[in-house]
Amino acid sequence: MRRNPAALADDIFDLLIIGGGIFGAGAARDAALRGLRVALVERADFASGTSSRSSKLIHGGFRYLEQYDFALVAESSRERRILREIAPHRVKPLPLLLPVYRGGERPLWLLRLGMTLYDLLAMYGNVERHRTLSQKQACALEPTLQADGLRGVIRFFDCQEDDARFCVDNVLHAAKLGAACVNYCEVTGFAAENGRITLARAIDRLSGTELEIRARVFINAAGPWVDRVAALAPTSDGRLPRLSPTKGVHILLPRLTQSHGVFFQGRRDGRMMFVLPWHDRTLVGTTDTDFHGDPASVYPAAADVDYLLAEAAALFPGAGLKSSDVIAAFAGIRPLLASNTANPSARSRDHQILRQGENLLSLAGGKYTTYRLIAQQTIDAAYGIMGRKPRACTTATTPIPDDRPRMSGEKIADSPPVFASDIEHAAREEMAITVDDVMSRRTGLALSRFGGADVAARVAEIMAPPLGWEDARRQAAVAEYGAERRRSIGFEE
Ligand SMILES: Cc1cc2nc3c(=O)[nH]c(=O)nc-3n(C[C@H](O)[C@H](O)[C@H](O)COP(=O)(O)OP(=O)(O)OC[C@H]3O[C@@H](n4cnc5c(N)ncnc54)[C@H](O)[C@@H]3O)c2cc1C
Repeated sequence: MRRNPAALADDIFDLLIIGGGIFGAGAARDAALRGLRVALVERADFASGTSSRSSKLIHGGFRYLEQYDFALVAESSRERRILREIAPHRVKPLPLLLPVYRGGERPLWLLRLGMTLYDLLAMYGNVERHRTLSQKQACALEPTLQADGLRGVIRFFDCQEDDARFCVDNVLHAAKLGAACVNYCEVTGFAAENGRITLARAIDRLSGTELEIRARVFINAAGPWVDRVAALAPTSDGRLPRLSPTKGVHILLPRLTQSHGVFFQGRRDGRMMFVLPWHDRTLVGTTDTDFHGDPASVYPAAADVDYLLAEAAALFPGAGLKSSDVIAAFAGIRPLLASNTANPSARSRDHQILRQGENLLSLAGGKYTTYRLIAQQTIDAAYGIMGRKPRACTTATTPIPDDRPRMSGEKIADSPPVFASDIEHAAREEMAITVDDVMSRRTGLALSRFGGADVAARVAEIMAPPLGWEDARRQAAVAEYGAERRRSIGFEE
């Protein structure tokens, strides 16, 4: 799959999807599977927005039970099972411990009741049912867990994924089915006649070429930018999706557990938080605070990092965690629907598909776990606008392929396992344009101990022949990666 912006101007598409995060990628795959003519444009790299900055869980959302959002938990649990079936190489079961300490806000009996309901809402289709463990049993499984005051532990399952890679997988599958998917291509405006959008104007950010992309229906899947893209449409009539976005920060620490994630109540404010194994490291998250800035400039603040570190240190006192153990921190924006709830963590994770004018659909809200279902509803709505009877959606039963070459040749990293052939394939067949595209969104190297300058230099050497880079361009590509890494994830080198 080569990046081919010229293909965008060649045709009148049934759908133009704006935004290559998981919702746009999922919609493109769904539409392509139903035989529609689809274009997808993404202003930066696929998955470079929120869809690479999540907690990387495909989960039923145990914590939504506190908000009595049983429908969302049932829906998410069903989607968790479906995603595990169609992408077992990406969506993997993760055992989690939920420790209950003396003096905690939520007593053990209540959490056990909640877990029974969690299993029930999954129609007992989760990986395993939950179990209650004694302090001794839990500490035998995870000896580093704080044992003092531990009343009991619930062991349950959710699933874990590489969010960026899974999003790219969806784009690549759509492209394989014939969709014209182009990264580094930004929609800058629309033209309309009689209340109907006829084309979107876009700019190819690599060449500077301006493009006009014609389609019957336009789908705005721009995540935290959704209201900005909707405002470009002359047909919006001021009816814009209303968001109450929040910022979420994660930090990366040395590995703290053997095989479990830990879902725990924060000591400072009682919020539920995660410590998750991530290759040979640990991901700790997340914060949830109101965000009013530019989604393209979102960074972790020192206070966010200190807060997460303090919570992890209290949960794993034996690890002796200190500031210098923070390997990286990154931030993302949750494009949540507007609500009157002052507490950001209590805001609904529900979604909305808003029709503006004749033929613009904007997606707002939602969570990664339910992307497939949201995509299905969106494409059904697009059929309605086109006045055609929808062809059946097959995304719940069609596997998402993994077309990467099997392990061979030079090994670049072992956790995650990455080979030179993966990097060459990313440059030739997966529309990776920059070193960061490969490190952050094709291979997962950036969030591993192989994310530094030496590995980046080797990655650039492998990318150079397929992308035709001379020496100067190759060196500049490594320097750009370093700058991007310092900007967005504040890594130590
Ligand atoms: C901290 C955090 C933790 C989370 N954890 C989880 C979790 O564990 N599980 C879960 O299910 N969900 C989780 N979520 C929610 C989930 O990540 C999001 O719901 C999902 O990724 C949103 O995807 P999206 O496609 O709407 O947005 P994005 O991924 O942001 O995609 C939108 C894309 O549109 C592009 N774009 C914008 N403007 C234009 C334009 N003019 N032209 C072309 N392209 C444009 C952007 O560049 C961007 O890539 C989490 C979110 C956060 C922030």
